[in-house]
Amino acid sequence: MTKTWKKLDEFILIAPGDKTILRKRDTVGDEVFPDRDEAEASLAADVKEIDKLQDQLWAERTRALLVVLQGIDTAGKDGTVRGVFGSCGPLGVAVTPFGAPNSEEAAHDYLWRVHNAAPKRGLIGVFNRSHYEDVLVAKVRELAPAAAIEQRYGQINDFEKYLTQNDVTILKFMLHISKDEQRKRLEDRLQEPKHNWKFNPGDLADRKLWDDYEKAYETMLERCSTEHAPWRVIPSDKKWRRNAIIASIVRGVLEKMDPKYPKPQWKASDFKIE
Ligand code: AMP
Ligand code: MG
Repeated sequence: MTKTWKKLDEFILIAPGDKTILRKRDTVGDEVFPDRDEAEASLAADVKEIDKLQDQLWAERTRALLVVLQGIDTAGKDGTVRGVFGSCGPLGVAVTPFGAPNSEEAAHDYLWRVHNAAPKRGLIGVFNRSHYEDVLVAKVRELAPAAAIEQRYGQINDFEKYLTQNDVTILKFMLHISKDEQRKRLEDRLQEPKHNWKFNPGDLADRKLWDDYEKAYETMLERCSTEHAPWRVIPSDKKWRRNAIIASIVRGVLEKMDPKYPKPQWKASDFKIE
């Protein structure tokens, strides 16, 4: 952890109620982690520490950490899961990708499937997309009445507050890339055989709605960055920098949670193993 996470927060944390103009925010983030070797060393140290703290969290079994990843197509959500949590013991991490709701999910209120996927005590839960799609794609593509979407910001804040009051610490990262970087990444998916599977023609339709998504993200950041669950906007054009920043924050927050191995209720000297 070369940079303390408090220092990083000066660049990336959205204060409650702050208006964010995404096109004015840097997507490269040179000042945050200027040097690639240093960022990679910091990431390597942080993922090791995250694994250690995760083991303690699992052993303690009293609290959970929820990491929410949002970002437009190609922003790097999958890469973040692999880069930051890929070294954790598989017992302790639960990753949930959220796609368009299936018929059962759509038959319930929009938070039903989300609450169901909230991490149980001892886990780090990672949401690859989340309930925020219900104020992003749902708004841009008018999947629900405008008045219903308008109510969701407050409902989401209340839901997240409820989770935090019930021992779930919430970290929210918006992976922020430039439109030009998205073009490069989509081109790579078209051209690189090993990446072809990731190409989805629907992503081009969403790219055409770039400005609408940007506006929806800005409203989300303004209305759903709260004291209990603030948003952090991560400059994500460079994958190595994105991972280094996120790992540093996750490690910092886990250290603050300070999970402890439980003390045994017995004395080792009372037992003899034959
Ligand atoms: P991917 O993350 O590439 O697998 O794509 C998942 C797709 O599901 C994206 O196009 C999302 O916009 C869409 N999606 C996720 N959540 C919702 C939701 N609540 N309502 C409608 N579409 C959604
Ligand atoms: Mg996709």
